[in-house]
Amino acid sequence: MLKLFIAAISVGLIYWIWHKKNQIFYNRGKKADPFITTIEAIELQTFLDWDTPQPCLECDGIRYGKQFKQKNPPDLPHEQGCRCEATKLFYTSDDVFQGTSPILTHKSALGDLSAKDALLLKNILLKIKTGSEKGSFSDFLEQFEINNFSADIRSAAISLAERAFQAVQNK
Ligand SMILES: [Zn+2]
Repeated sequence: MLKLFIAAISVGLIYWIWHKKNQIFYNRGKKADPFITTIEAIELQTFLDWDTPQPCLECDGIRYGKQFKQKNPPDLPHEQGCRCEATKLFYTSDDVFQGTSPILTHKSALGDLSAKDALLLKNILLKIKTGSEKGSFSDFLEQFEINNFSADIRSAAISLAERAFQAVQNK
């Protein structure tokens, strides 16, 4: 009778373990999303300053790799004054789709900037270098949402842009 009892318990236990194991494997299988793949690429990041050359500003954030439009990064430095860096990164296909980057901070003369601040500053600098502004700096600045700069760097970012603006005017 006791042997039968032990046998019954053992069968129950084996069944329970087998059931648990299946559950674990099932969950593990579900977590790996088949649509998310890892992509290796090189991303260029420039150093944002009032005198950052135009080609560097234009290349900032561009990704190079097998799965990208541009396969090979350019030879650095771009030109005199170039402080671009090429960083090897691993993206998920989700990053690529969303346009997000694994690089969370951006080097600049104002220290490490958030991606959002860096993008706004870059767009301002690029507009200064490519445009032919006739008006004053404050008129020029009106086309940008400068309130989107983080409060702690806003005034420094504006001074940096103003310096770039004056440099172009005095050329
Ligand atoms: Zn460069």
